[in-house]
Amino acid sequence: MSTHPLVALDRDHLIHPLVNYQAHEQRGVTILESGHGAYLRDAQGTELLDAFSGLWCVNVGYGQESVVRAAAEQMRKLPYATGYFHFGSEPAIRLAARLVELAPASLRHVYFTLGGSDADDSAIRFITHYYNSTGRPAKKHFISLERGYHGSSTMGAGLTALAVFHHHFDVPLPQQHKIPSPYPYRNPAGSDPDTIIRTSVEALRAKVRELGQDNVAAFFCEPIQGSGGVLVPPKGWLKAMRDACRELDVLFVVDEVITGFGRTGPMFACEAEHVEPDLMVVAKGLTAGYAPMGAVLMSDAVYRGIADNMPAGVPVGHGHTYSAHPVSAAVGLEVLRLYTEGGLLANGQARAPRFEQGLRDLLAHPLVGDARSRGLLGALELVADKADKTRFDPALKLHERIAVAAYRNRLVFRAFGDNVLGFAPALCYTADDFDLMFERLTRTLDEVLDQADVRRAL
Ligand code: PMP
Repeated sequence: MSTHPLVALDRDHLIHPLVNYQAHEQRGVTILESGHGAYLRDAQGTELLDAFSGLWCVNVGYGQESVVRAAAEQMRKLPYATGYFHFGSEPAIRLAARLVELAPASLRHVYFTLGGSDADDSAIRFITHYYNSTGRPAKKHFISLERGYHGSSTMGAGLTALAVFHHHFDVPLPQQHKIPSPYPYRNPAGSDPDTIIRTSVEALRAKVRELGQDNVAAFFCEPIQGSGGVLVPPKGWLKAMRDACRELDVLFVVDEVITGFGRTGPMFACEAEHVEPDLMVVAKGLTAGYAPMGAVLMSDAVYRGIADNMPAGVPVGHGHTYSAHPVSAAVGLEVLRLYTEGGLLANGQARAPRFEQGLRDLLAHPLVGDARSRGLLGALELVADKADKTRFDPALKLHERIAVAAYRNRLVFRAFGDNVLGFAPALCYTADDFDLMFERLTRTLDEVLDQADVRRAL
């Protein structure tokens, strides 16, 4: 373990998200100290290429001075304004209006949160309020995907399908249900796009039938499931699910926390299929990690359903001290400007074919069974047997070895436990950054392949 004085302080006092606490105490923290463009520097002075944009959020890259200036100016002028008691601030109002301008046309109203989890949670609360307000109080059941991720709040973690978020937390709740994820590489009925779309729609219909249409409130999905393993459904899947929800009278909620803000090409993944959700959840790329912020966008019908049925003088009992925080909003406005006028969305779109090709080329590597991507969101899935897609024995802890080897090769990405390697390079990546990324990634995979027990497992 490092002898850096902060390591002992961290071990003694700081609780980290999503780590094994015992393992963290033994291993110690890796301290990141600074960043510029696509690169990070750790406390030892090692420069690392970040192929994951922090946690799929720093879409504009590090060190964007105009964002720093926007935050500093707003802090100097007015660091905080509450949204309670009918107060507000200019950047928050402008950001809401700008988001509505950029989002699918169905979405007209914005509630700001501090991140994705409380945005998902707010969406659930607004939907519940909406049905209670509009005389359909039985509509309380929520459906999501078996590999979906919708945050870490009590309600959101129940919609999140990853078992580790349930274990010891007494979720999901009885009104939270799952249907199988579209997973082209491992779909039991085959990877043909029409089959995948049809099986998903049928699963949703069957689940709604089982619960009773009058009891189902909403279906939540990510356009591409991120934390569930970067599962890229065929084009047309999102639209088919949207249409099915309309037909079933179930609200369609798209969680674009990862896929939003140019990550998959367009500003929002919904755009690629002309999908107009009833609600949309965003975070991460909204402020590109420079300040915490998320948002729920909702249709006029949902907003008016709540607004028009309120008894006079009674507020909606939902609020956060830092909702629509003016500094985060000022950051968001500048980040959105960088995507659009700043040319980052266009750069991301222009670079995506290089990214996709680099992943696809790695299919020739003995460890790689699948390569999938859309825009600058992608993954490799490592398998012990390419013919029958057998996974590696978890006892090999391949993902941990890969993360260690990658770090040694000065590359950062996400190695999931089931040996999916997730990539989300920043939209500011240059051609050289991609060359370096794939050079370091290939070296990492080769080194791991050279380990005797990994070779034996193939
Ligand atoms: N939804 C999705 C799709 C996410 O990927 C995440 C975070 N990875 C969240 C919600 C929760 O966001 P946060 O971590 O900001 O609370």
